This record gives sequence, C-alpha cells and structure tokens, in this order.
Amino acid sequence: MSRWRAELVQTAFEARQFPEPKFPEIALAGRSNVGKSSLLNALIDQKIAHISSKPGKTRSINFFEVASGGSPFTLVDLPGYGFASRSKKEQDQWRKLIEKYVSSRQNLSLVIHLVDFRHGLLKNDVELQEWISALGVPMLTVFTKVDKIARGKRKGELHKYIKSGLKSVDVPILTSTEGKLGIDELRTFISAYLEE
Ligand code: GDP
Repeated sequence: MSRWRAELVQTAFEARQFPEPKFPEIALAGRSNVGKSSLLNALIDQKIAHISSKPGKTRSINFFEVASGGSPFTLVDLPGYGFASRSKKEQDQWRKLIEKYVSSRQNLSLVIHLVDFRHGLLKNDVELQEWISALGVPMLTVFTKVDKIARGKRKGELHKYIKSGLKSVDVPILTSTEGKLGIDELRTFISAYLEE
C-alpha cells in the first residue's frame, strides 16, 4: 500500500474557523488518552499529531489533507473527551465544538470512534454513539491498545463488545500502534469506504 502524505491545513478552536469543505472528511473521535494521536501518526506514517503524556491537552479540531494514491480526503482529529480533571466549563466547550462539527459538516463521510480495548465503551462513549447515529452520520468503531490484551483473549472480548450493542458500519477493527496491528487494515478500509 502506498504511503499516505498528510498536511495540517487548519486548526479550529471554534466553528467559524472550520475550513471550507473541500474533500470528503473522515473524523477521529475518542476519549482523551485513547491513543488517537498515536493512531493518526501511524496511519500517516509521520509524526504530525502531538502524542501527549498529559491527556486532555488537545482541544482544537485539526484538519489534515491526505494524499493516499487514491482520491484525496481530509482526516479530522476531534478533541478527546471525558478527561475528568478538566473543568466542566472546558469539557462543555469541547463537547459543543465536536457537536457543532458533526451536526453541521456536509462533507463528513465517516466518524471513526476509537475505544480502548481494555475498557470497552464507557458511559460517554455510549452517549457519543447514540448521538452520532441519531444524526444519521455513519460510524466505525476501532479498538486501540489491543496489545494490552493477550492474543488468545482478543476474539472473545471483541464478541462480547459487539454483543453489548455497539454501533459500527462494519466489524470493528482491532489496532495497536505498539505492534503495528490493524493499521494497514484501517487504511484499506478508509480507502475502500471513500471509493464506494
Ligand atoms: P490521545 O490522548 O488519544 O491522543 O492518546 P495518545 O496517542 O497521546 O496516547 C496516550 C498514551 O497511550 C501514550 O502514553 C501512548 O504511548 C499510549 N498508547 C497509544 N497507543 C498505544 C498502543 O497501541 N498500545 C499501547 N500499549 N500504548 C499506546
């Protein structure tokens, strides 16, 4: 698979800073510390997103234009949510920014919802899934940090999560940036999804 080249084209702290819609958009959402920056860097094989040891730092929406060999598209990095030690006011601001983006963006093709494989969907993940599907925006669940669960237990955990009723347009993809697991699979999924 050819390398993806990405370029940060916009950082938005509020809705009026969203760029003009240009290409189809694939947005990445998840709780803070889920491994979103690590996955973004792995997907585009570049150190472009900031990997933080202090969760909850990224509070902007970042737009990355991607040249993948196929049609160009934009990867959109949404702020991580659910970081408990942030003030309610700050958390509300981020939530509103995410809501504004997802509910108004005409060229949003897919939300990729990242969920830590060790924890599964927590309360605010379930809320996000219900809210996004109520808007009619397609969503794919992608599990992160799969290396933290023993190989032999992964299938069983996945089935347990699927049974509990998560929303996903396809079978959730298991990823790990430590073992480079599922990264090519996710790239292939995104490319195929955009060609549909
Ligand atoms: P973000 O807050 O969602 O952007 O998460 P980061 O990408 O900054 O990662 C949060 C922490 O999880 C960092 O310490 C990462 O090194 C770690 N991490 C991210 N992905 C993985 C993974 O696939 N496996 C393991 N074991 N750790 C990971």
